[in-house]
Amino acid sequence: MISFDNVAKKYDDGTYAVKNFSLHINEGELLVLIGPSGSGKTTTLKMINRLIPLTEGYIRIKDKMISDYDIHELRWDIGYVLQQIALFPHMTIEENIAIVPEMKKWEQEEINQRIDELLHMVGLEPETYRKRLPNELSGGQQQRIGVARALAANPPIILMDEPFSALDPLSREKLQDDLIQLQNNIKKTIVFVTHDMSEALKLGDRICLMRDGGIVQTGTPEELLQQP
Ligand code: ADP
Ligand code: ADP
Repeated sequence: MISFDNVAKKYDDGTYAVKNFSLHINEGELLVLIGPSGSGKTTTLKMINRLIPLTEGYIRIKDKMISDYDIHELRWDIGYVLQQIALFPHMTIEENIAIVPEMKKWEQEEINQRIDELLHMVGLEPETYRKRLPNELSGGQQQRIGVARALAANPPIILMDEPFSALDPLSREKLQDDLIQLQNNIKKTIVFVTHDMSEALKLGDRICLMRDGGIVQTGTPEELLQQP
């Protein structure tokens, strides 16, 4: 689904944020990028949807070079969930979800149905939450809206950059459990960035361990735990 072929990101000052990065991510796989701060995780993630331009190598999505995609198609067809989801404070939850550009083309009825469906998917009762403002939701619930918004146009790929890191331990664990369940149903290709090994082992079909912009090791949680 996503192939990295000798990808590098070099900054003007000569530093490599990412280098010699080659990896194939399978369709329907949840791949975790893990590594210490500054190891190149976010850079790798943002190169996939061209938020950061790569300087060497190639990235392909479904065998097509990302440089050959229309930028809007690429951006909006890849769901993106950030650590601190930015909801518009004066817009209701349903309005915040409906800002997804793809939905602008839809009939109102279709939009309404999709919002209900999405809220159910992320475990929030639509009748209770549709008309609320973001500040009437807990941090965990706001991140759920972030996930709902990323899923809105049904993109095949979801990028998640430390989506649960700002939450308290209990909410974090609940969202992790719910993401596993959700992924069992929707089977998206997910690239998930974290610096938390227990989160990586819990969520990842495979884990890619990064250090200094490169890959140290890639494997299933079982393979990573079997190290001598
Ligand atoms: P991580 O997500 O693992 O914390 P990042 O991908 O954010 O790591 O950063 C990787 C490296 O790239 C870091 O060493 C960082 O300092 C460097 N970097 C990020 N942005 C720039 C920039 N604009 N100019 C130079 N170096 C940068
Ligand atoms: P979570 O399990 O997602 O962390 P919390 O325990 O923080 O949720 O919140 C519990 C309940 O309190 C939720 O139903 C939420 O809607 C409600 N709530 C949280 N913050 C506010 C707020 N600022 N105004 C109104 N209700 C709130």
